[in-house]
Amino acid sequence: MTEAQIIDGKAIAAALRETLKSQVEKMHTQPGLAVILVGDDAASAVYVRNKIKACAEIGIKSFEARLPEKAAQEDIAAEIKAFNDNPNVHGILLQLPVPKHLDSDALIQMIDPTKDVDGLTYINQGKLMAGDESGLAPCTPQGALKLIQSVRSDLTGLHAVIIGRSLLFGKPMAQILLAENCTVTTAHSKTRDLEHVCQSADILIAAVGQPKMVKESWIKPGAIVIDIGINRQEDSKLCGDIDFENAKTTASALTPVPGGVGPMTIACLLGNTVKAANG
Ligand code: NDP
Repeated sequence: MTEAQIIDGKAIAAALRETLKSQVEKMHTQPGLAVILVGDDAASAVYVRNKIKACAEIGIKSFEARLPEKAAQEDIAAEIKAFNDNPNVHGILLQLPVPKHLDSDALIQMIDPTKDVDGLTYINQGKLMAGDESGLAPCTPQGALKLIQSVRSDLTGLHAVIIGRSLLFGKPMAQILLAENCTVTTAHSKTRDLEHVCQSADILIAAVGQPKMVKESWIKPGAIVIDIGINRQEDSKLCGDIDFENAKTTASALTPVPGGVGPMTIACLLGNTVKAANG
């Protein structure tokens, strides 16, 4: 029995960061990324720290605004406006989730679309749907595509099944794969006979947030399987939405959690910042 190739997201992300670093070295303007963190969520604080560290490593200048848990909508709006107006800031990221009393979508829509490195403003969502490459696309689906292309460059005609339809991942992933000439099925919690739907996937992507939900029997032999889920198990270890150990015997290529798409998300965020700084 041949085992699946394990797609090394860490190595692919490191190579992408190296490419970006040499691009930054040749630029006349130093790219700048501003991160806005509201509240004291420990996981969000770690994500922000990692993003700032990654920026420093490739020569992107970081700007940070930390606001207390009880910050008002107007306080965050004022920070966004200041970063929109700051010519040294080329990318703005509002770390999600924000505390529940805030309207996160209204805040996101205040970000200048040319600085929207998360790709969540309506302008950037629309550009992605229209196939306008001048927009900024969300980072995790961009990263997932690069991982798929690391094992197969031409995806024409392949059937891709994405489980999950969030604005952050599932919907933009579907658009990105359509642009690669895949036939795309987007599944979700109301999909009937999900196992059967998944069994026809040449590319299977799970972005649900349910530990090891996708079993080996759901996977078409030889499929490329990409795991977006990040779940904390009882023993405090991380796992994805795919039953990794069993899936290895059926898939042709598979991403691990951690070390799969996670590092790619940050690398693609740096990529979006460099793209924004290049105008
Ligand atoms: P959301 O909670 O926004 O979306 C989850 C999706 O899964 C929804 O569309 C939901 O369907 C669907 N779903 C839930 N239960 C089932 C089920 N039993 N069967 C089929 N579909 C189901 O999550 P996100 O898209 O933001 O994130 C998904 C996962 O990916 C999370 O674990 C998150 O931590 C991880 N993630 C990882 C990133 C990274 O950098 N590696 C970045 C972003 C996310 P419905 O719409 O019907 O409710």
